Amino acid sequence: MVGNLTAIRWQRDQPRRGPILPALAGDHPASIVFCVLCPEQLGTVERVQYLIIGPIDEREWDEHTAGRWYAAPAMLVHEKCITKLDEEDLEDTVPMLVAVVLSAP
Ligand SMILES: [Zn+2]
Repeated sequence: MVGNLTAIRWQRDQPRRGPILPALAGDHPASIVFCVLCPEQLGTVERVQYLIIGPIDEREWDEHTAGRWYAAPAMLVHEKCITKLDEEDLEDTVPMLVAVVLSAP
């Protein structure tokens, strides 16, 4: 998967906020990745959290539509940034993030 994407077991009625992780180690490859919710890099000071952005591809959409659990793409963002958004805000933000992910080289 592209950039800091990983897969998290998820189902459509679950919160889009995933697990919270401590601040990344200095040698963590995602530490230099930019948070998609602010202009800063994820860095090594702030706690980070997974934001589930699935479904993206056709197979994921099938699982999503059927309401089944599936391995949904998720990206790391700052915990402080995701905290500012409620679930409705996240639902509105996710399509933009998917567009960014799909346009990544
Ligand atoms: Zn941020």
